[in-house]
Amino acid sequence: LLTVENLSVAFGAKRVVEGVSFAVERGETVALVGESGSGKSVTALSCLRLLPGAGANPAGRILLDGTEVLSAPEAELRRLRGGVAGMVFQEPMTSLNPLHTVERQVGEAITLHRPMAGAALRARVIELLRRAGFPNAEERLAAYPHQLSGGQRQRVMIAAALANDPKLLIADEPTTALDVTIQAQILELLETLKRDLGMALLLITHDLNIVKKHADRIVVMKDGHAVEQGRVADIFAAPAHPYTRMLIATEP
Ligand code: ATP
Ligand code: MG
Repeated sequence: LLTVENLSVAFGAKRVVEGVSFAVERGETVALVGESGSGKSVTALSCLRLLPGAGANPAGRILLDGTEVLSAPEAELRRLRGGVAGMVFQEPMTSLNPLHTVERQVGEAITLHRPMAGAALRARVIELLRRAGFPNAEERLAAYPHQLSGGQRQRVMIAAALANDPKLLIADEPTTALDVTIQAQILELLETLKRDLGMALLLITHDLNIVKKHADRIVVMKDGHAVEQGRVADIFAAPAHPYTRMLIATEP
């Protein structure tokens, strides 16, 4: 479904991702793990050519559902973004518009890809919010992001990411800013969505307990390199790279 081959990204003269290769197959969960600044978000954003700022020029090859992401024309990119891979960003407050209601944020994610309006659009928004874990979705339509809890904001982001039935959800530390109970609820939600919708998940996290519980395979990043990858059980049983060994040894 997603194949990343020899991805390198530099900001100006600074290389932050170098020679990274990994794949995500249909229906599986791959965890991208590594310390702060190791290049996880840059790698994830590259998969949809979403890197901000001039100077960031991803090199290598990224195949998403058979399409070359790095050379795709804009129209094709728009289809890939949301239609093939949905993304939940690391900072919900910067990716939700503080001036837009829940209905508008989720509605715009839908109409980006298909013309819909009025009652049909509202019904689809409500359906997505329910799926993302708002049982009383109708009551939330008029809410603004600041009126929601962190976990609820994350659910709105997930609803928006699901708007166009993606085959892959890229979730960049979807639970890092949340307390442990809410973390568990969001991860449960992602599991349910995967199961019900047959989605694959690229899950970025630095929590190895989450990896153990939710991922099929793991890719370990350090200083812009993918230093080790494999099935979760194998890597935990016999980590080969010193960094992975250290991670597992110091796990709380
Ligand atoms: P964290 O766990 O803290 O989210 P990360 O692994 O996601 O870390 P990245 O955000 O991918 O790390 O950043 C990797 C490196 O690239 C860092 O050194 C960061 O400062 C740099 N970087 C990221 N985005 C930009 C940008 N837009 N412009 C310049 N440098 C950037
Ligand atoms: Mg990050």
